[in-house]
Amino acid sequence: MRGARTFILAVKIPEQFFMPNADLRKERDFYMFQDKTLVCKDCGNDFIFTVGEQEFYAEKGFQNEPARCKDCRNSRKNAGGNGRTGMKREVVMHEAVCAECGRETQIPFKPTNTRPVYCKECFDARRA
Ligand SMILES: [Zn+2]
Ligand SMILES: [Zn+2]
Repeated sequence: MRGARTFILAVKIPEQFFMPNADLRKERDFYMFQDKTLVCKDCGNDFIFTVGEQEFYAEKGFQNEPARCKDCRNSRKNAGGNGRTGMKREVVMHEAVCAECGRETQIPFKPTNTRPVYCKECFDARRA
């Protein structure tokens, strides 16, 4: 086993948040976490369930250890898996000049010369 570490969690976590099969030793009010080698359900490779991940799981109250290695988890995520992506798409704003009132405005797309750009007020006014 490579890179075995022990880590003392400096916070109290409610008893019910613990995975029943986790390698934990309770020392006074602290819990000992240790890097753990698990076998991936998908590819069959060993992977390390790190102290940091165990801490994260414990804090979230997850009852199960991860069944898949990072690679397999990532490829599932990329495949669109559970729909809980939480990814923020960054909107890039572009400077443009309103074709109606000539004011500078910002638009969420690249201005082209083929279509006039309007500021929000003029755009709303034209739609109304
Ligand atoms: Zn895997
Ligand atoms: Zn305008």
